[in-house]
Amino acid sequence: MTADPLHRDRYSRQAILPGIGESGQQSLAMAHAVVVGCGALGCGIIDQLARAGVGHLTLIDRDVVEWSNLQRQTLFDEADARSGQPKAIAAQRRAGAINSSLNISAQIADLNHENAVSLVVGNARPDLILDGTDNFETRYLLNDLAVTRNIPLIYGGVIARRGMQMTIRPGHGPCLRCVFPEPSSNGETETCDTAGVLGAAVSIVSSLQAAAAIDLIVDPARDFRPSLTEFDLATTRFRSIDLSNLATPQARAGCICCGKARYEFLSGERTRPAVTLCGRGAFQIPAGPSRIDLSRLASNVARVSPVTANEFFVRIIPREGVEMTVFADSRAVVRGTANEGEARALYDRYVGA
Ligand SMILES: [Zn+2]
Repeated sequence: MTADPLHRDRYSRQAILPGIGESGQQSLAMAHAVVVGCGALGCGIIDQLARAGVGHLTLIDRDVVEWSNLQRQTLFDEADARSGQPKAIAAQRRAGAINSSLNISAQIADLNHENAVSLVVGNARPDLILDGTDNFETRYLLNDLAVTRNIPLIYGGVIARRGMQMTIRPGHGPCLRCVFPEPSSNGETETCDTAGVLGAAVSIVSSLQAAAAIDLIVDPARDFRPSLTEFDLATTRFRSIDLSNLATPQARAGCICCGKARYEFLSGERTRPAVTLCGRGAFQIPAGPSRIDLSRLASNVARVSPVTANEFFVRIIPREGVEMTVFADSRAVVRGTANEGEARALYDRYVGA
């Protein structure tokens, strides 16, 4: 720990906490955390870890800042939305302004099975991975990566006024697929873009994630009790579900990931096929494994965007000049977008990954 009095003063209220101290502060300064997704959860996590003095942060995100982000994505401002700054870059700049002593790197990338190892693990294994993503495919990919590389993963999820958090410690408790074996099928789940999300609910989940990260860094050997915390602000009900029963190797034997060692998302086996160009300014998202309930999708989307539907397809207008047609087999054609990444992002936003 540096003897710099300003440095000491900065962390004084945290270092006096039982269980942290100067040595905990030193551990935080030496730690490397990878935050995947710099959206709502990512912003909250990054803000808190930067202020807490986590010395090395790697930030990964594929999107740019939009006006609809400002209500809950606390690292961004109007200038970022106006100029369409990449979120990873805007978050890096803001976190660096909060705490200039940190080493913060930013990657503008869509994390997938081909680049996940190099983006997350890179040249040096990080101490932990924080999930700030918004889709299950990427979450399961991170879970595969965490289990194969023995890296703790701090999962968080939020929608509407509800949220949940779970810390995954490979070898010490259940992985994400022990608890949620399969992603919900396309069109069956709501997304934050169709169901909405309260900024206050986001802050709770990102705080639970940041607290779990700090605890893990400060004392990795501490007694670990696997649990899932969930809440609903509509009823102000919080509960913690004890997952100790899933902690034994016998209990995990049936898990396809940490029990059977089949890493379907990291191997690419379960990855959605690539987006293809179909005609001028149009991209096709190929069909996934499950069919879509079109009437349910139409009613979810109708709350936020113009939509027309019939028995064959749902046509969504995300913004003027852009049109996405989703078919019952989960295939979609997106017209009027600039690139395939945007086509995929629109699909994830409205249909869900
Ligand atoms: Zn598992």
